[in-house]
This record gives sequence, C-alpha cells and structure tokens, in this order.
Amino acid sequence: MKINVLTLFPQMFRPVTEDSIVGRANQSGILSINCVNLRDYTQDKHRRTDDTPFGGGAGMVMFADPIFRALEDLGAKAGGAEGQRMLYMSPRGRMLDQAMIRELAQQEELFVLCGHYEGVDQRALDYWQMEEVSIGDYILTGGELPAMVLIDAVARWVPQVLGNDDSHLEESIYSGLLEYPHYTKPREYRGMETPEVLLSGNHQQIHLWRLLQSMRLTKRRRPDLWKTYVRNCDSLTKQERRLMQSVDEEENP
Ligand code: SAM
Repeated sequence: MKINVLTLFPQMFRPVTEDSIVGRANQSGILSINCVNLRDYTQDKHRRTDDTPFGGGAGMVMFADPIFRALEDLGAKAGGAEGQRMLYMSPRGRMLDQAMIRELAQQEELFVLCGHYEGVDQRALDYWQMEEVSIGDYILTGGELPAMVLIDAVARWVPQVLGNDDSHLEESIYSGLLEYPHYTKPREYRGMETPEVLLSGNHQQIHLWRLLQSMRLTKRRRPDLWKTYVRNCDSLTKQERRLMQSVDEEENP
C-alpha cells in the first residue's frame, strides 16, 4: 500500500516514517509513506501557501493551487481511481473508527490531505471529491496528527506490518470486547500477585478467564459495545455463551 500525505509540515512525519513498527514497515517496503511538501508546489517567490478568507473572519485559508498541482503530479484522479481513496483530515468529517480503518487498509493507495490554520479552499475538496475524516470532536492545529493516527491504525492491517498477524484479533474493539488485563515477569511485584490461572499452563482455562475479564470490563465501561456483543453472539461456543449470559445477569460486573 502507498500512502501519499500532502502537508506543509512533512518533517512532522519523521517518527512515523522512520521509527517503531510503522517506520520499519515503511523502510522495508511493506508500506510506502510518501510525504509531499505542499510548499514545493507553490508558484510565487515567497512560496506562500495561504491567504485571508474571502468574506472576512479570523485565520488563513490554504490555497487550492498547490494542492491541485501536487495531486496532478502524483497522478491522482478526482474521487480516487479503483483502489484509491482521497481523504481530507477534518473535524467536519466522518468519525474514524475500526470499520473505516479496515476499509482503508484494503486500498492500494491513499491520498491524505492535512489542513492547517482555518482549513483549505473548498474548491480543492470539491474538485478532488475528498472524503472528510475526523479523529474526534475536538480541534487540533493541523491535520498532521490526525493523519498519523489514521496511518498508524491502517498500517496495522496491512499484511506483514505486525510481526504476529493474529495479534489484533483479540484486541479491544476488533473482537467486539475491550481487552483483558495483561501481566508479565515478575510473578509477584511489590506484593501484587499475577492471577494464578495465567501460570497454570491450562490454555482453555486461561482463555475463559481472559474472556470473562473482557466481558466484565466491556459491560462496565462500554455498555454500548456490550449490547452489540450480546446481540451478535452466534459464533460463541456453548461455554462462552454461558459465560456471556452470566456476565449479562451480573449487577456490578
Ligand atoms: N476551521 C476548521 C473548523 O472549524 O472545522 C478547523 C481548522 S483546524 C484549526 C486546522 C486543520 O486541522 C483542519 O483543516 C484539519 O485538517 C485539522 N484538524 C483539526 N482537528 C481535527 C480533527 N478533530 N480531526 C481531523 N482533522 C482535524
């Protein structure tokens, strides 16, 4: 998968393109993150990228022209060709969630536009038929951090990016439940013990204990997720279903 990021601050992406799991995937070619500096596509000698908004008001608006030129240079098609998606990080957008992440991870190429200041000239969004994507109901100074959140979450679904390809199957949200608690060495730390069952070597018991913890945590913290989980419990074994019913009946899980 190739991810083209259009930004005024490409240096902000260095940790994502060079460090940790996603950085390694980028450097080994499993994933290609291409950060394009919109300033390189300006035409005037001051390399200006924005101006005041028509109609007045606070802040600056990013010019459409560098965005057009950069996308043309990248060979983008308005609305995205087959296997492509055109995204603009924006608090007005559809809220990023796991379903959208998985949709995006199936594409061959993404174009991710990062706004700054008051945002970008609407004509760039309209012409290129950008999908607006928000990471939450709060305002950040630029689209770079939201783009990094999106890239990190999408990259985890690209085959081979995670060492163990099963590792996300049990993670919070994906499985429909929040994840169970983890413990590692030492067995006892400052008087606090590791739950005995995790040291038992009995995989079935460990599985049921973890499932129970996940169920209780989800019912307590995320009743919305719990309701959906209970409704869609067809794939559970008899034993798992009994566990689910007992948690569902608990007053204070
Ligand atoms: N004036 C804009 C508005 O009220 O919708 C907010 C502009 S914000 C200060 C600057 C840029 O940060 C936006 O163009 C967008 O790219 C990015 N941004 C800010 N908050 C965001 C969020 N919650 N999700 C995604 N992008 C965001």
